[in-house]
Amino acid sequence: MNSYLDQKIGVLGGGQLGKMLAQAASPMGIQLYILDKDKNFPAGQVAPHFTEGNFNDYDDVMAFGADKDIITIEIEAVNTDALVELEKMGKKVYPQPSIVSLIKDKGTQKLFYRNHHLPTSPFDLYDQWEDIITDVENGTLIYPFVQKARSGGYDGRGVQVVKGPEDLKVLLQVPSLVEDLVDIDREISVIVARSSNGEISSFPVVDMEFHPTANLVEFLYSPSKSPIDFQNQATRIAEKLVSELEIVGLLAVELFLDANGQILINEVAPRPHNSGHHTIEANVTSQYQQHLRAITGLPLGSTRSNLAAVMVNVLGEDGYTGRAHYQNIEDCLKMEGVYIHLYGKEMTKPFRKMGHITIVSDSLDRAIEKAKIVKNTLKVIT
Ligand code: ADP
Repeated sequence: MNSYLDQKIGVLGGGQLGKMLAQAASPMGIQLYILDKDKNFPAGQVAPHFTEGNFNDYDDVMAFGADKDIITIEIEAVNTDALVELEKMGKKVYPQPSIVSLIKDKGTQKLFYRNHHLPTSPFDLYDQWEDIITDVENGTLIYPFVQKARSGGYDGRGVQVVKGPEDLKVLLQVPSLVEDLVDIDREISVIVARSSNGEISSFPVVDMEFHPTANLVEFLYSPSKSPIDFQNQATRIAEKLVSELEIVGLLAVELFLDANGQILINEVAPRPHNSGHHTIEANVTSQYQQHLRAITGLPLGSTRSNLAAVMVNVLGEDGYTGRAHYQNIEDCLKMEGVYIHLYGKEMTKPFRKMGHITIVSDSLDRAIEKAKIVKNTLKVIT
């Protein structure tokens, strides 16, 4: 076996990230196999091979992995015991199961940053959520602070700001990470790839703007408008993290630039990420192709931006639950440089990620103007 073309690659997860991985794999001639519960999930619509099963179930993952050469993920919430076992059998499991386990838990993530002298906001870990209240009462924990579920949270679910006694009544009743509330000036992201031969390459820094209530990315801007020395510093921090983790594959690193000009790591994801969707149209190599290059040991591609880009998440409109209807989508398709990605999810609900739109242009300002029009035009209703 001497070519990547001979390798069977299995992906745990068949959501939109799996779909876009499959779309990148096809022109490279890669044989991609997806595991998820239902062939009607987004990746099932484009992947040539789809196995129905539960990526959280030990036996399902073992059965799926048995005839694969490389196994990767598009979601962290997978059965890592099975991945450890597959790794022991000599399969290439990228990202490595130990890293997936470390990242799944926001507490161990933060401990890794602290132990490796990587900048992050001050924090404490609580096995018993009730101890948070005790610490507030005895004055060792002071408002405001942020409580995060150590595991299981995503897209802002499992994160809450605790400003005063009222908020103590609605604490998440789970093992928690408690950290200082950062005075955020800017949220940025750097996606770094590390290949199985140790080569490292980063995508240009992007700015993320969050939805005020839904707590998930609403707009993404590439290139970032932050000062170039901050961008370079953030990239150095992200690359240091990647080399210390020795991860193979992509690591998306979300960082805060705080009001004092400090850069802090917020959290990471060991897979393609929402903050890299625009690379499909705007960069020489997409994050999806880069991930496939990294895990197969191919040379990493150029990450250079060809065009400025804004990415808008297409979210289910608040107040609508049911079969999705994309109102005014034709008006968006009329506009030059507007690329629509619908994930093929049949049902919408408030703020569900139904797709994304990338708007490319020679100038970021022009892309922003169009993105505002797109945002106000396309609505996902029922
Ligand atoms: P998720 O895993 O759900 O994406 P995050 O840990 O990234 O959760 O938090 C979601 C958002 O909440 C962040 O993007 C940021 O806007 C805000 N946030 C998270 N941690 C802090 C903090 N320590 N201080 C201020 N805001 C925060």
